[in-house]
Amino acid sequence: MIPIAKPYVGQGEIDLVNQVLSSGMLAQGPKTEQLEKDFAAYCGTKYAVAVNSGTAAIHAALYAAGIREGDEVITVPFSFIATVNPIIMLGAKPVFVDVNSDDFLMDVSQIESKITSKTKAIMPVHLYGQIANMNEINRIANEKGLVVIEDACQAIGAEYDGRKAGSLGTAGCFSLYATKNIMCGEGGVITTDDENLARIARQFRQHGMSGPYQYEHLGYNYRITDLCAAIAIVQLQSADTFNAARQLNADRLTSGLKNTAGIRLPFVHEGRTHVYHQYTIILEDNVSLDREALIVRLREKNISTGVYYPKALHAIPHIGDCRFAEGDFPVAEKLAATVLSLPVHPLVSKEEIDQIVDAVKGILSDK
Ligand SMILES: *Cc1c(COP(=O)(O)O)cnc(C)c1O
Repeated sequence: MIPIAKPYVGQGEIDLVNQVLSSGMLAQGPKTEQLEKDFAAYCGTKYAVAVNSGTAAIHAALYAAGIREGDEVITVPFSFIATVNPIIMLGAKPVFVDVNSDDFLMDVSQIESKITSKTKAIMPVHLYGQIANMNEINRIANEKGLVVIEDACQAIGAEYDGRKAGSLGTAGCFSLYATKNIMCGEGGVITTDDENLARIARQFRQHGMSGPYQYEHLGYNYRITDLCAAIAIVQLQSADTFNAARQLNADRLTSGLKNTAGIRLPFVHEGRTHVYHQYTIILEDNVSLDREALIVRLREKNISTGVYYPKALHAIPHIGDCRFAEGDFPVAEKLAATVLSLPVHPLVSKEEIDQIVDAVKGILSDK
C-alpha cells in the first residue's frame, strides 16, 4: 500500500533522543530552547515558542495577541477543526469568509464586509502548504488595527515573496504532528517578532507563570518535552530537503495527470512556493465516477488517498452554534464534497508516482 502519509525517522533523530534519555532531563529544557532558536532562525522571526501541539500553538498565540471572550476572529470554514476550536476555547467567535475555488485559500475580497467593532484578528490558513494572500490580509489588518495569526501548520518552509510562512503576520502557528512536513510525534511552535506576544505565549504554556509561582495570567500545561524537541531539531535541519522531495513528487504528478478529463490539479501563485503538505485534486462535475468509487478503486490498486476535509466547519454544531445554514459558504461546501489528496510525501518513490498517475488516469478513462 502507498500510504497517504508516513513519518521519516533517521539515525540523527534516534541519536539525539537517546542523548536526551541519557541526560535525565526529559521535560522542557535545553533541547526545547535549542529548537526555539533554530525555528526562529529558519522562519526569519525574532522569537519562537515551542508547545506540545499545533492546537496549543494557535490557542496560545490568540491569547497572547489579546483575544478574549466576545471577540471576533475572521477565518475560513475549509480547514482542520483545530483552526477554530482554540477561538471557541477562548470564548471568542469564529466569523467565516469563504475560500477561493482555485487555491483553497481565504477569499480576501470577503474580509472587509465581515469586520465589526468586535473583530480583533484575521486568521488565514495556509492550506495544503501554500500561503494565503498575505499582502491583502496585512493591508486590511493594518488599516483596521487587527492582528494577523497565520495558521501555518501545513506550511513550514513555504515562501511568499521570498519570506517564510510564520514571518508574515503578527504570529505564525506550526504543528509538529506525526504526518506534518516536519514532525516529532506531537508538538507545535509559535513564531513572532513581537516580544510581548512571545512572553505571554511562554507564560500561557506554563500556568501563566511569569516567574517561580508568580501567576500573571490564565495558563495551561502546554509544555513540549525535550524528547520531542530533540526529534524536531533534527527534522528541521531536513525541512528544505523534505519539501524539495514533496515538490518533485508534486511536479511529477502534475505532468503525469495534466489533460486528464474530470479533474483539476493544484494551482500555485506567482511569487509563492508550495510545500505540498497535501497534493489535492478537485473532481469536476464531468468526472466519470464519484469520489467514493474512485477512492475504492485506488485502494484496490494499493494507493491510499485522503479527503481533507469532508465537512465545512461552519456546519459543525459547536462551531457554528446554529448561526449558519447549508449554502452559506458554497465554495467550502463544494470543495468538501469534491477534493481528494494523493500521496506526495518524501517516501513516495518515482515508480510509485508513476503507479498513481497510471491508476488515476486508467480508472477515470475506463467507465
Ligand atoms: C495539524 C493542523 C492543526 C493542529 O495541529 P495539531 O498539532 O494536530 O494540534 C491546525 N491547523 C491545521 C491547518 C492543521 O493542519
